[in-house]
Amino acid sequence: MKPPPFEYHAPPTLVEALTLLAQHGDEAKALAGGQSLIPVLNFRLARPSVIVDLNRIDELIGIDATGPSLRVAAMTRQRAAERSTDVAERAPMLAAALTHVAHPQIRTRGTIGGSVAHADPAAELPAVMLALDARFRLRRGAEERTVAAGDFFTGLFSTALEVDELLIDIEIPAPAARSGWAFEEVARRHGDFALVAVAARVVLDSAGAVSDARLAYVNAGPGPFRSARAEAVLVGQTPDPDLIRAAAAAAFEDARPAADVHASAAYRRQLTRVLTARALAAAFARAAA
Ligand code: FAD
Repeated sequence: MKPPPFEYHAPPTLVEALTLLAQHGDEAKALAGGQSLIPVLNFRLARPSVIVDLNRIDELIGIDATGPSLRVAAMTRQRAAERSTDVAERAPMLAAALTHVAHPQIRTRGTIGGSVAHADPAAELPAVMLALDARFRLRRGAEERTVAAGDFFTGLFSTALEVDELLIDIEIPAPAARSGWAFEEVARRHGDFALVAVAARVVLDSAGAVSDARLAYVNAGPGPFRSARAEAVLVGQTPDPDLIRAAAAAAFEDARPAADVHASAAYRRQLTRVLTARALAAAFARAAA
């Protein structure tokens, strides 16, 4: 199927793109890598009459590691982030998770910003951003605001972005001392959307107890979410196999996955438990090292 007709604009600057979005409101859609939007248009699940292509806007591309936080501009290709030494050093969980996103051809076009703005519950990056405590810089006209990942994702394919607002970049804080991370996923075949995945980040205090824990899930609920129950089980405790089992059981309780042709809800819930245990074991090992 082909998309319904639309007016096409490819502005060279961010200001022009924002002006077009403001002029056309909910008639318009921004186009990033097109790896989700074009299928959505072809299936006629959306019928914008105006497309604002962001691909000519240089100011939306790049990775900046000069400040205390890592900044990834929205139009940075997923493949560029996956191969970036700055991302490997400053946000290794993001680099690891990106290898699970589709295939290299798709990651070469798909952008970091497009993936988080699309907010597919089966997408890896929203959960990674939750686990990393990322912050999203959004702009509408001349107005800018910054939204924490926990407030950005609002449910199934929905975010805090307004119709005439663009994601500009994502700020990822530097990892704390004695912190560890892991990203664990099960998919039918490598590159398929996750059946379930978990992004885990833990911080240990000087006595070796857990001072902070983040456990964020892909496809275990209607949108990306953190398991508050599992995180509460961990904080203040010293890691050992019993603690990991207890946290995994708590994540199982919090999971609300849906069934589809690929897996039942019960199977996905069980995966939530197993992957949480695997991820915590790996994250604690990294934190202790
Ligand atoms: P687009 O498709 O261009 O845009 C997606 C949405 O985001 C649109 O609504 C658009 O308006 C909005 N948007 C884009 N940029 C901005 C911005 N800066 N500000 C505001 N709104 C914006 N993804 C996974 O996570 N895991 C997978 O396993 C996976 N497998 C895939 C397999 C196939 C065969 C294909 C085709 C895609 C797959 N994807 C997967 C999706 C892929 O990662 C997409 O690249 C991503 O979802 C969207 O990024 P994009 O840059 O292509 O955005």
